[in-house]
Amino acid sequence: MISKKVVLRFPEEIAEKPLVSDICKKFNLTFNIMRANIFPRKEGILTLEISGEDDSFYKGIQYLKDNGVSINFVEESINRDESKCYHCGFCVAVCPTEALTITDRKTMRVDLFKDRCIACGYCVKVCPVKAMSLPEEF
Ligand code: SF4
Ligand code: SF4
Repeated sequence: MISKKVVLRFPEEIAEKPLVSDICKKFNLTFNIMRANIFPRKEGILTLEISGEDDSFYKGIQYLKDNGVSINFVEESINRDESKCYHCGFCVAVCPTEALTITDRKTMRVDLFKDRCIACGYCVKVCPVKAMSLPEEF
C-alpha cells in the first residue's frame, strides 16, 4: 500500500477530462483533495493525496502522465535551505498541517516533516530569509 501527495497540473486542452476519476476506476485508487485551482477552459492545478497498491499507484501516475498531466511529488518538492533558516518560527504559525513544527521546546528548533506538507506555499511567503522553497510551477 502506498499513499503520496502529488501536485497535478492539467493544461487547458485536457482540463475538463475526468482523468482523476479514470485512475480510480482503472487502477482501484482513492484520493483526497488537498487543494484545487480549476477554472473552466483554463489550466487546472490539483493537489491530491492518492492511495492504493504500489503497482496500481505507479500505473495510475503513468496514465496521468501519458494523458498530458504534469506531476510533482510534494514530499520531494518542498525544501528548506538549512544554511538560511534561523528557526524564528514564523512559518510554524502559518503551516496548516504541522509540517513545520517545534517538537523540542528546549531548543525551539523548527522541524520540517515533508510527508505532512500539502504545498500550500504559506511558509514560502512568510519566511523572512527565503529559506523555504517550492518549484515555481506550484
Ligand atoms: S520562517 Fe524561515 S527562517 Fe523562520 S523558521 Fe521558518 S524556514 Fe526558518
Ligand atoms: S508549503 Fe509550507 S506551510 Fe504549506 S504545508 Fe508545506 S510546509 Fe506547511
